[in-house]
Amino acid sequence: MANVTLRSVRKTYPGGFEAIKGVDVDVGDGQFCVLVGPSGCGKSTLLRMVAGLETISGGEIDIGGRVVNQVEPADRDIAMVFQNYALYPHMSVYNNMAYGLRNRGMPEAEIKTRVEEAARILELTPMLERKPRQLSGGQRQRVAMGRAIVRQPKVFLFDEPLSNLDAKLRIAMRVEIRKLQRRLNTTSIYVTHDQLEAMTLADVLVVMNGGQVEQIGNPLDIYQRP
Ligand code: ADP
Ligand code: ADP
Repeated sequence: MANVTLRSVRKTYPGGFEAIKGVDVDVGDGQFCVLVGPSGCGKSTLLRMVAGLETISGGEIDIGGRVVNQVEPADRDIAMVFQNYALYPHMSVYNNMAYGLRNRGMPEAEIKTRVEEAARILELTPMLERKPRQLSGGQRQRVAMGRAIVRQPKVFLFDEPLSNLDAKLRIAMRVEIRKLQRRLNTTSIYVTHDQLEAMTLADVLVVMNGGQVEQIGNPLDIYQRP
């Protein structure tokens, strides 16, 4: 588990566009933080900086008490869940979840334990031998989450993970993600443009606009304010 702290974080893209203009956010150990705001407000840029997929132009990002500005993505102890799942179509569900661990040279016995545990949590056990095309959209999204869970990271990062699903499934998955987070108690940062999704999921809600934090706090406080 880990705190994530952003201090005066800024991002200027090559060409000079200032996408993030000094953002301060503190996500406590085991908290679920949601970044919400209109398209183009900088949510994805901020998340990608935490992941190490985007360089930081100013300020500091701290994960678990360590400044990670210069730390490679693979060494940040994070796992990211994307909207397009990015599953390998030719691999079974089992191997999709095992792939990243094998790349790190983890022993097969340990991989098996972790994959089977993740499959149990996500109710994917009967589907381990299937290929992604033999799964429903919701099941594929669960496999994508399984790939993050087996890493046992300090922090989960979610980039609009439900935006490809239909409305009904999106609501069901929202509930599943919340249950999962309560069970694993892993610090999470979740990006969405959907206000309802944000309110349902967040312990800490960060409302962004134009590269800045407009409001931050408990969702009930933010949305009940006159
Ligand atoms: P959001 O995730 O909230 O939709 P983004 O973080 O994707 O917003 O983008 C924030 C702003 O930065 C947008 O105006 C976008 O056009 C701009 N932007 C994103 N990526 C780049 C890039 N690689 N180069 C220049 N500008 C970018
Ligand atoms: P295929 O090559 O037909 O696509 P899979 O991708 O399902 O087969 O599996 C390839 C390898 O993945 C297996 O030989 C085995 O090492 C491992 N594997 C798959 N499922 C499991 C499982 N449930 N338990 C342990 N290992 C598994």
